[in-house]
Amino acid sequence: MAIADPEAASSPEEPRAPRGPALSPSRAADFMTCPLLYRFRVIDRLPEPPTEATARGTLVHAALERLFDLPAAARTPAAARDLLGPEWERLAADSPDLAALFPSESQRTDWLASATAILDAYFTLEDPRRLEPAERECYVETSLESGLRLRGYIDRLDVAPSGEIRIVDYKTGKAPREAYEASALFQMKFYALVIWRLRGVVPRVLQLMYLSQAQVLRYSPDEADLRDPERKLTALWTAIERARAAGDWRPRPSKLCSWCNHKAFCPEFGGTPPPLPAPADVPASPGAHPQSA
Ligand code: SF4
Repeated sequence: MAIADPEAASSPEEPRAPRGPALSPSRAADFMTCPLLYRFRVIDRLPEPPTEATARGTLVHAALERLFDLPAAARTPAAARDLLGPEWERLAADSPDLAALFPSESQRTDWLASATAILDAYFTLEDPRRLEPAERECYVETSLESGLRLRGYIDRLDVAPSGEIRIVDYKTGKAPREAYEASALFQMKFYALVIWRLRGVVPRVLQLMYLSQAQVLRYSPDEADLRDPERKLTALWTAIERARAAGDWRPRPSKLCSWCNHKAFCPEFGGTPPPLPAPADVPASPGAHPQSA
């Protein structure tokens, strides 16, 4: 299992980004977790091959997106299961790394069964026949007064006839323990801030759906709840720029190191980071990481 990259896991290829600084929730979380991890992902762009867990996340997200293409009455558990095979074939055709995960048919069958169980659990949380999402896999982007652009992909946006907005994010990993819920909600507040700036409406509900455990975490933000992440993100960007200017990306070891893909390059584990690329080769706009779950 790798350190989660939920945004990239569920996102289609990122549109060409305009120039200027931009931050996604995943990259913001990376820097808060460990500046060196941020460097490895954004500056060095070290590859992160898919794992069974990240691939499962990608597949389940794809199937749930397609589910809402069906007429409402047809959105049954059986129909959702039927989507898994074709979606897997499509994803594997696009990514040889994904296809290579399962050298034998029996391994792939077992893994597909685990994805099926997660989809089945989804139906214990809500009835998609009673929903008509306004948007799915929705790319959002806005600029703060500081000039920092925020961007990312939202799994699903529901808009009530009253205009109230619900932001929905699907998770295929474990639900956080209570002490870590605030960190899980950070990503949702990030999206809520972007929607607020784009549409002038504070989303009514932020809904994290932990599918494999059939748990839902809901939060209703107000304006004050969203001003705090705005300040925090602006300060975070200042810290990132400072680290970039100094070339000082310090490791911050924690329990999450157990799932870091880049321990071999990390001084905390006896490794040496690769030489920093020349400034001209450093991406100006660190958005979504190209891959993961
Ligand atoms: S192993 Fe830990 S300290 Fe090192 S880069 Fe990864 S997250 Fe950071």
